[in-house]
Amino acid sequence: MSTSVLIVGGGLVGTSSAYFSAREGLNVTLLEQKHVGYGASGRNPGFVWLHCRNPGWALDISLKGRALYDQLREDLPVPFEFRADGGLIYFYDERQEQVFKEFVAARQADGLDMSLIDGKEVKSLVGPIRDDVVGASFCANDAQINTPTVVAALAAGARAEGATLREGITVSKLIFSGDRIIGVETNEGNFFADKVVIASGAWTEKLMRASGIEVPIGRERLQVMATKPLPPQIKPVVYGPNATKTYSLFKNLPSWDDALFHSQIEEETGYSLLTLAAQRANGEILLGCPMDYPSEVDLFPSLDGLKALAEDIMGDFPGLRKVGIDRVWAGVLPFTSDMVPVLDEIAPGLVVAAGHVFGNSAGPMSGKLISQLLTGAKPDLDMTAVRWNRELDPVIPGASVNW
Ligand SMILES: Cc1cc2nc3c(=O)[nH]c(=O)nc-3n(C[C@H](O)[C@H](O)[C@H](O)COP(=O)(O)OP(=O)(O)OC[C@H]3O[C@@H](n4cnc5c(N)ncnc54)[C@H](O)[C@@H]3O)c2cc1C
Repeated sequence: MSTSVLIVGGGLVGTSSAYFSAREGLNVTLLEQKHVGYGASGRNPGFVWLHCRNPGWALDISLKGRALYDQLREDLPVPFEFRADGGLIYFYDERQEQVFKEFVAARQADGLDMSLIDGKEVKSLVGPIRDDVVGASFCANDAQINTPTVVAALAAGARAEGATLREGITVSKLIFSGDRIIGVETNEGNFFADKVVIASGAWTEKLMRASGIEVPIGRERLQVMATKPLPPQIKPVVYGPNATKTYSLFKNLPSWDDALFHSQIEEETGYSLLTLAAQRANGEILLGCPMDYPSEVDLFPSLDGLKALAEDIMGDFPGLRKVGIDRVWAGVLPFTSDMVPVLDEIAPGLVVAAGHVFGNSAGPMSGKLISQLLTGAKPDLDMTAVRWNRELDPVIPGASVNW
């Protein structure tokens, strides 16, 4: 009999773990509380963002993850939306240029295909942006996915390889025999297996706490708006200057100065703004993202968050001031204190695969690494950085973090 595996969570990490594990001949059942793609993976605007990935494990898995998409496009039984048009961070204050010059030089040294482009070029790539844009860092390694379509394709791939995916099943507790996990309790009764993989993203801390295990994975809420479908006008995935403040890489540059990147809207609203825009194949433009830190997973956008988002976008993208808004939503992103996930067997048979800040580049590849862990195969990456026994700070509800 092949090893039986229960996977908890149907996001990028869970569906990919199911796909690669079933492909290796394991007997896989995935349990998802709502529907596949219900969590962060179904709610994010799709940046495959190598631009700001910290050197080391984060950049290594992102480069491998970016390449894996080419393979998945060939191997999965249904197509998903993928665009390799790069990504940029624009700026419109000439005093910020030195920071961007240093950033581009540092990233080139890290091996990324990065350049500084001028305002004219930015305008040609991002139609609705403000006319006084000065320039941008541009990274050709960045790409864009329509994330729900990737999760759906991975789920289809898992099913085609023989995995069972069960939706509407909430895991409430883990079942142990001694120190070995043997199954899980759910609203549909108990499920038993040789191994259990916890891929429940931002819900992980709460789920594990119910079984007496502390897993320090925090929660960051991001709010998004989607316009009605519009003619093509934004090619790459686009960040604004406010987004730089979220990244330690920027803040550690010699010429970094908080005052240079001050935002009146952030000061007034209390939200950090990850200013972003990305246009999907159907023409809708996704806009984001005010960020805060709820003490529980909170999937509702707030009026003051949406106001901050609208004001920020209207300032930077005057061409979008009058466009129709089709939908708004929020999602919750998981994170650890060192910004890389936990991918490890933390007790006999119990594997944690959670804490992904940048799941679009790392999620599918994490699933492949999990299948290697489950089968005992040599991992494609050194796993030291994502071990359970490393030092992780506890989660402090409400405290902001840099990625
Ligand atoms: C608005 C937003 C924007 C983002 N932008 C980007 C971006 O541009 N690029 C990028 O790389 N990353 C981005 N992220 C982060 C990215 O979405 C995550 O890293 C990634 O989706 C994590 O995948 P996951 O499978 O670990 O978690 P999830 O996709 O959250 O999946 C976890 C699943 O587990 C299920 N679950 C939870 N508890 C239980 C339970 N008890 N029983 C059964 N099922 C359960 C949930 O319903 C959920 O479907 C963004 C996140 C958000 C919210």
